[in-house]
Amino acid sequence: MNYIVFDLEWNQGGTNEENKNLPFEIIEIAAIKLNNDFDIVSKFQRIIKPNVYKKLHPVIHDITGYKMSDLKKGVGFTEAVTEFIDWCGDDYIFCSWATQDLKELQMNMRFYDMSLIDKPPLYYYDVQKLFSYAFENGDDRRSLKYAVDYLCLDENVPFHRAYADAYYTAQVMKRIDFDRVKDKLSIDTFIIPKDRSEEILLYFEDYSKFISMGYGSKEELMKQKYITSVRCNYCKKYVKKKAGWFSDGMRNYYFAGVCKEHGKIKGKIRIRKNIDGKFYAIKTIKTVSDEEYDEILLKKQHITLKRKKTPSSTE
Ligand SMILES: [Zn+2]
Repeated sequence: MNYIVFDLEWNQGGTNEENKNLPFEIIEIAAIKLNNDFDIVSKFQRIIKPNVYKKLHPVIHDITGYKMSDLKKGVGFTEAVTEFIDWCGDDYIFCSWATQDLKELQMNMRFYDMSLIDKPPLYYYDVQKLFSYAFENGDDRRSLKYAVDYLCLDENVPFHRAYADAYYTAQVMKRIDFDRVKDKLSIDTFIIPKDRSEEILLYFEDYSKFISMGYGSKEELMKQKYITSVRCNYCKKYVKKKAGWFSDGMRNYYFAGVCKEHGKIKGKIRIRKNIDGKFYAIKTIKTVSDEEYDEILLKKQHITLKRKKTPSSTE
């Protein structure tokens, strides 16, 4: 299997110029193909001619150093992506720094009525997450520049051009002890399960992840017993609740409970809205240390206190 490490640059409209169907228009696709040993076997790069936003946003100009005259020499989006997908081959997995690129790629593809990359669930490696698991605590999310400095890699190409960022991401990947992190797959949720039968439940080493279908509102979603029920990842028995589900007011819900046999358990539901305005849940259930468990209880206390002080506030 090959690893396709890719990176995008995009442009956007100025104030009042945003096209709601395409807030970010891709202007460059670059990718590095790695073999099983993480050696570079092929490279891909296309500059894409802007079609929606004909002016380069000043921020994008500052970050990337592009000029509109350069972009105008590019190819059309559909052509570039068709070539890109062909170039990827048959047996590959996408890898990118953080989670946004795969979403924007699909958003742009949808804008041009292109068919799906693959049928969902679309698995990929978020190298930013892998870096954190390999070298830090698994929770922090660092910039690519930070990772490159941390690993003392040669900085011979400027950052924030798609090719350079794909190249650096590939270099970071090569330094990671991959066997240790290879089960830390990410799932892209640009396309969410369309009904219960497509919902996703995966077990990892010390946690499980569930992705629900979409609902009309947050409230309707949180009313679904099968979404808010918590089972132990090991014995699959229902977990005795100590706290939860309580909200942090930012679309995250927390749960703390205990399995008699397997100890303390933390639950988290992140509610997200997909492109069609449907609300879906990403639920993780994890066995935790006493410390992490107490943190949830403290968080609950803290939120309850805050609400008492400001009784008029709503979630
Ligand atoms: Zn158990």
